Amino acid sequence: MAYDNNNIFAKILRGEIPCDKVYESDHALAFKDINPQAPVHCLVIPKGAYESFDDFSANATDAEMADYIRAIGVVAREAGVVESGYRILSNIGKDGHQEVPHLHVHIFGGRPLGWMIKSQEK
Ligand code: 5GP
Repeated sequence: MAYDNNNIFAKILRGEIPCDKVYESDHALAFKDINPQAPVHCLVIPKGAYESFDDFSANATDAEMADYIRAIGVVAREAGVVESGYRILSNIGKDGHQEVPHLHVHIFGGRPLGWMIKSQEK
């Protein structure tokens, strides 16, 4: 499937929609989620046009990958959640319930987060 240039995070990257930015590097941008599920809920996205983690892991350059992974760590450290612990999560595709088709890693923290998946269905 072709990357959708009109997805909301592409618009944020182009500056067409505002975001509450917390960090920026050469290849990554991080901002607060508009609908936070925890006291700390940030999203970290690559600046490149990658639809999902699957796309990114297959097609991103080594420089993009290194910068992106480091950015996730920096954002968590700057949010102050390393000592208490936190969760990173990336939804991919339909079963993963990915809503925005531009790779994003969620960083959740600031409270005990409970089990990874609420549903008991297997
Ligand atoms: P997904 O289900 O795709 O993993 O999560 C998409 C996330 O993007 C959701 O947590 C949602 O609240 C967040 N989101 C959607 N639109 C916007 C927006 O315009 N700005 C920000 N900051 N977050 C958004």
